[in-house]
Amino acid sequence: PQTAPLLEVRDLNAYYGQSHVLHGVNLHVMPGEVVSLIGRNGAGKTTTLKSIMGVLRSRTGHITFGGQDITRLPSNRVAARGLAWVPEERAILSSLTVRENLELPPARPGGWSTERAFEAFPVLRERGQHPGSKLSGGEQQMLAIVRVLRSGPKLLLLDEPSEGLAPVIVQRIGDMLQTLRREGLSVILVEQNLKFATRLADRHYVFVDGHVVDEVRADEVEARRADLLRYLSV
Ligand code: ATP
Repeated sequence: PQTAPLLEVRDLNAYYGQSHVLHGVNLHVMPGEVVSLIGRNGAGKTTTLKSIMGVLRSRTGHITFGGQDITRLPSNRVAARGLAWVPEERAILSSLTVRENLELPPARPGGWSTERAFEAFPVLRERGQHPGSKLSGGEQQMLAIVRVLRSGPKLLLLDEPSEGLAPVIVQRIGDMLQTLRREGLSVILVEQNLKFATRLADRHYVFVDGHVVDEVRADEVEARRADLLRYLSV
């Protein structure tokens, strides 16, 4: 029997005031799958994540998660179903320590404990008493990811986790995501870094001007590399 998608987005249109920015977006994520949304700045990737989370309410279409309709749910109830979003700006509070930032959301059953986060990223333990403002970009990204894992999500929405980070840190974040994937977590990865996206994702959705214009499986990436680079180039 065919497995049902974990997440399904059908005919999504989204608006900022009068401005129509997503045009009939269709996509799905299978259980355990890592899917990337790639495309240039302004193509609509972040807007898609916000629409899925219920943060952007001005939209039409259908969104189901685990077979249940979540289209009209407020974002706190979307999160309670098992979706977690790490926005591009990371939202680390500079006046709180690293540990306080980490422990802001309560750990839920099945979610990551403080100890588990510190084991995964020893640097966060070392910096535990430092203010959030003193972390490097890479450390902030690690903290932002492990913080949302405290709720034990089934689907993680990551907005450009590699952006502005040194290659060695990008590698670390990638290793961590591989580990999470092995544990069965599903991920939507918004990326402009093709190398990072193709290392991790099982499938890629290509966004151009608010439309999904192409879909490329991992085993097609080599043959389609020139197309992918063209979609991303400015
Ligand atoms: P980026 O990497 O820059 O975030 P993106 O592919 O995620 O790119 P979106 O942020 O989803 O793109 O933006 C899609 C379109 O919506 C763009 O034309 C952008 O200018 C517009 N837009 C985004 N946020 C707003 C907003 N708050 N108000 C009005 N227009 C917006």
